[in-house]
Amino acid sequence: MGNKLTSEEKANLKKIGIINQKQEEYYTVRFLSDVGYFKAEQIEALAKIARDFGNGEISLTSRLTIEIPFIKEENINKVIDRAKEEKLRIGGAGNTVRAIVSCKGTVCKHGMIDTRKLSKEIEDEFLGREVPSKFKIGIFGCMNSYGKAQSNDFAVIPKFNIAMNEMDFLVFLGGRAGRKARKANPMKKKFKEDDLIRLLDKTIEFFNENATKKERFAEVIERLGENKVEDEIIKKFKAEI
Ligand code: SF4
Repeated sequence: MGNKLTSEEKANLKKIGIINQKQEEYYTVRFLSDVGYFKAEQIEALAKIARDFGNGEISLTSRLTIEIPFIKEENINKVIDRAKEEKLRIGGAGNTVRAIVSCKGTVCKHGMIDTRKLSKEIEDEFLGREVPSKFKIGIFGCMNSYGKAQSNDFAVIPKFNIAMNEMDFLVFLGGRAGRKARKANPMKKKFKEDDLIRLLDKTIEFFNENATKKERFAEVIERLGENKVEDEIIKKFKAEI
């Protein structure tokens, strides 16, 4: 079967999580989890979609989404309809805030915070927000994920402040993996849990105001300097207190 969609139509599909494969006549459809969780009946529905419209396989991604590959162009709308019926969300692509990566801190014995709850609050507020270039957020429950936090555009890890007997949060800005990998350092200032949504909002606002087209946040930081970026974001953050 030859492919009939134009390049522009394919680009528009990609923005909503339907990605043209290198086998041009096929598409992979990406389904968002609930910050790392699917209900059993959703998994059953996904398995059925894979059997009915794909090649019977499901693949897992590093951002806790599920992809169903080998969907033919003529079946894309059927998959979209089925997803709606089953309350499954398709997405997590394009120049947007991507699926939040949350560690298992809610149930893990090392977890110092309820990572699922915090991740859900952040997802509700930011998922899909348009940005100059994809923006990845990670929420981790202890220092064991320090390296993972360093590779997200915005990530948090709790750190108990013994002197103050309260929980602080380290915030990492501008990490990225891939061929231009950049390890993020934690900001000099530490934050409280209640500050994180506003801080993230101000960080994304800063990114929108300062990035050139398609520039990743890591590149903005490299261009402007880590100290300047942190100072500017803190200034915005404090302006609304
Ligand atoms: S980062 Fe820490 S809290 Fe989260 S899953 Fe790993 S060990 Fe558990």
